[in-house]
Amino acid sequence: MMRLPRFRYFAPTSVKEALRIRAGEGPDAAFVAGGTDLYPNMKRRQQTPKTVIGLSRIAALRRLRARAEGLAIGAAVPLSEIERHRRVRRAYPALVHAIEEISTPPLRNMGTLGGNVLLDTRCNYYDQNYEWRQAIDFCMKKDGTVCWVAPGSAKCLAVQSADSVPILIALGASAVLASADGEREVPLEALYADDGIRYLTKRPEELLTEIRVPSPVGRRSSYRKLRRRGAFDFPVLAVGAAVRLENGRVAETRIVLGAVASAPVRASRAEAVLNGRVLDPEAIAEAAQAAAGPAKPMDNTDFSFLWRKEMTKKWVAAALADLAQAARA
Ligand SMILES: Cc1cc2nc3c(=O)[nH]c(=O)nc-3n(C[C@H](O)[C@H](O)[C@H](O)COP(=O)(O)OP(=O)(O)OC[C@H]3O[C@@H](n4cnc5c(N)ncnc54)[C@H](O)[C@@H]3O)c2cc1C
Repeated sequence: MMRLPRFRYFAPTSVKEALRIRAGEGPDAAFVAGGTDLYPNMKRRQQTPKTVIGLSRIAALRRLRARAEGLAIGAAVPLSEIERHRRVRRAYPALVHAIEEISTPPLRNMGTLGGNVLLDTRCNYYDQNYEWRQAIDFCMKKDGTVCWVAPGSAKCLAVQSADSVPILIALGASAVLASADGEREVPLEALYADDGIRYLTKRPEELLTEIRVPSPVGRRSSYRKLRRRGAFDFPVLAVGAAVRLENGRVAETRIVLGAVASAPVRASRAEAVLNGRVLDPEAIAEAAQAAAGPAKPMDNTDFSFLWRKEMTKKWVAAALADLAQAARA
């Protein structure tokens, strides 16, 4: 049985107190929301904080506001609460669909949106227990120097695997970060770096307080996830897509791929292909072909990477077909 190592636990009741504790404890401290990612990682000794700062008692982080101008979801709002929220379900069906695809109902009762947005990157070599990793010699993401996926690689290739991220970026979401220096809001897309170890651009001491999603009025969106097990599984390919039409033609679109690199990948060429076009089968096929280019899955999750690359075309086409259908409805 894998056991948690010993650690000190704090349960602050305000953001200010959480930041103060983090400043005092330094880099050996980690925030925890639902703990469905952090605690298994601690059991596998992938993350080894000496101090854990719980966020679940901070009321400000558990507020969900759904207004005409958009959504503001506190970082520690449980996924199941978002899933059940009537206004969110009506206005953001693709986001709710992505959330429903995350793990299982009990894990969604514990797991939060903030924890999902900041989910650790994943890799077949890294997602193993301590003894397994020790036996093959550790990898560069934790305790070692080599990337076992591509031993010549100078950087870690672990994969961005959070379901909510591609669709949130497609919807134009932003993240609010708090630290002793104050608060800043960044486009969610800017929160990620294509490096399996330093996969976030936020500073380690920054606390994610809120995810903001603009009004969905005039937009259609879709989320498509590829995984092995229908019941629950991390994505091995994910597509978040959103479009705004004017007079039946694409005025604005965002297509975001997940699980094909260490950061979510914007399919910019595919977006350009669609600009000003009617979402007909020809335009969809051209855009899907263009989207597959930047998808560079590696051989470090389930299924072969060549097949996953090939599936990118099909999954983007399916997501765009959802948008075309929604536009006709
Ligand atoms: C069996 C199983 C299946 C799973 N399947 C999926 C899946 O299909 N799709 C998927 O996307 N995920 C999946 N997950 C991962 C996880 O359950 C979800 O991603 C969940 O949303 C994580 O949220 P959490 O609140 O539990 O995160 P936590 O474990 O609390 O935190 C995750 C990370 O974020 C940091 N953190 C959390 N909140 C903040 C904050 N506000 N500010 C700063 N740092 C913070 C923590 O320090 C930690 O590094 C699965 C997990 C398990 C165990």
